[in-house]
Amino acid sequence: MLAYIGLGSNLNNPKQQIKTAVMALHNTKDVEVVNLSSLYQSPPVDDSKQPDYINAVCEVKTHLTALELLYVCQDIETKQHRVREKKWGARTIDLDIILYGVQVVVSKQLIIPHPEMMNRAFVLVPLAELEDDLKVPVLGPIQDLISELGEFELTKL
Ligand code: ADP
Ligand code: MG
Repeated sequence: MLAYIGLGSNLNNPKQQIKTAVMALHNTKDVEVVNLSSLYQSPPVDDSKQPDYINAVCEVKTHLTALELLYVCQDIETKQHRVREKKWGARTIDLDIILYGVQVVVSKQLIIPHPEMMNRAFVLVPLAELEDDLKVPVLGPIQDLISELGEFELTKL
């Protein structure tokens, strides 16, 4: 199965946090990172007192189920000392499953495609960098989703 994972960080050397998380994914049994986007910088969605975010998207080849992959992501977050505070608060690392093949998942723990992806330039733009003609299940072509974003602030590093 091919899956896309979105990574984000805005604390404690964000670029390094993302690299560490990608390495941790790649070092996981039954997970192989096959592609990684550029890093992108953007201002926080809500609270301008937070530092800017660094985001990227990676593509993984995996034999894990979507839920097993979520647990791997959460494990990496814990190892990188993510402290769960308020929703959308500053964090050392966030790993979200954006897509898991063409599968649609709706459960208490997991929603795929990621429920916020269509609102987030920092997910859509790096995703399109990896696969510019991607058809997102339910949501449609990635280029259409980017056109529908309106204005956004995102710097490719
Ligand atoms: P956020 O990413 O929205 O800032 P968290 O990383 O704390 O917040 O995630 C909150 C919950 O979102 C997790 O406990 C997880 O079960 C759930 N979740 C639902 N869908 C997904 C997904 N596609 N990828 C990652 N987490 C998800
Ligand atoms: Mg998350």
